[in-house]
Amino acid sequence: MLDDLKFPGNNSIGPEEIEAASRVLKSGILSNFYGSWGDNFRGGIEVQSFEEEWSEYFSVKHSITMNSATGGLIAAVGAIGINPGDEVIVSPYTMTASASCVLVYGATPVFADIEPQTFNLDASSIEANITPKTKAIIVVHLAGQPADMGAIMEIARRKKILVIEDAAQSPGALYGDKFSGTIGDIGVFSLNCHKTIQTGEGGVCCTNNDELADRLRLIRNHGEAVVEEMGTSEKYGDIIGFNFRMGEIEAAIGREQLKKLDKLNSGRQEIASQFNEWFKDLPGLTIPYVSPVSTHVYYTYMMKIDSSKSGFKRCHLIKNLGARKIDFFEGYVEPLYMQPLYQRGWHKKTGRHYGEGLCPVAEKMYSEEVFYHTYLHNSLKDKHLRFIKDNVHDVWDKLE
Ligand SMILES: *Cc1c(COP(=O)(O)O)cnc(C)c1O
Repeated sequence: MLDDLKFPGNNSIGPEEIEAASRVLKSGILSNFYGSWGDNFRGGIEVQSFEEEWSEYFSVKHSITMNSATGGLIAAVGAIGINPGDEVIVSPYTMTASASCVLVYGATPVFADIEPQTFNLDASSIEANITPKTKAIIVVHLAGQPADMGAIMEIARRKKILVIEDAAQSPGALYGDKFSGTIGDIGVFSLNCHKTIQTGEGGVCCTNNDELADRLRLIRNHGEAVVEEMGTSEKYGDIIGFNFRMGEIEAAIGREQLKKLDKLNSGRQEIASQFNEWFKDLPGLTIPYVSPVSTHVYYTYMMKIDSSKSGFKRCHLIKNLGARKIDFFEGYVEPLYMQPLYQRGWHKKTGRHYGEGLCPVAEKMYSEEVFYHTYLHNSLKDKHLRFIKDNVHDVWDKLE
């Protein structure tokens, strides 16, 4: 039964992307960034066109492509002017770069706890962690579901601190009538090969603020070398530039991928509602929660298990499904402050307590409740989805 059921990998690359990449190769111009002030400071034709198209789709004033979302996050923290000793509130339950970007500037990540339904930062925990040193919040829209941006922006404006959104997993997800990644001061998207739309490696920063856009472009491309020529050395004298530039091939591919975003997201939403239907009555299983004010674009399908109701532990489920070649994963990530980076390195440099008990909800989600799969992409056929459904039900019955 497994033999004729090989699960295809996610592949959204088609003839359009091949044509786009060939167009760039034939031109011989694989990147057209110059590290001096002038038109080419902002990159080549594909990069600049991709940025315009991204801004139009997301209804945002400035889109600045990057080599990755990690580069984008580092640029965003630099752009808002974070300095050594400043505190930035971050999530413990996310990909590592959403917090480590703060350490690059010698500032202190302060971990707030998450909501047990969405796994996104809990606004009340954010508020409880604000001190006179707090300069910013980095909000993550985990698994494709926007965080509680209404409450978070209200706190941020009242306390006069800035908000960076890590929208790497949520391109196209709406909070109210706005796209996640366009609500805070800077939003960061990823285009790495695992994400809903991809260019192999890549990222985009969005902002409606002209000065932040200038600073992001300077940080992307060795800004300290051009502020003099640009005539802004007074205003932007603190800029430390990197090379976070995107190449022309990636940008050309990104332009095609962006056209597919709506369709890829609605495909994911259809598959998720199918799984919801199939899984919702399994004893002890909680299907993904979706807030009434937002849409979910299901980068991953995150569930919870209550062992007192299922009668078995999460690890047994994962192991049994694995034996049937179905990859479900448990825990998502260990709360980031338990990593060696914080345990062995930066607890000393920042003088903070990064220990167990810091974020009890995140710890519980990691150690007991959360499990997820990524079977949501358009290369999967109905027979694959049904195979997953049948086996989940079968394993659940047998373990119960
Ligand atoms: C993928 C991801 C990143 C990093 O993206 P890269 O483009 O690989 O640097 C950052 N944050 C989150 C939440 C992610 O999922």
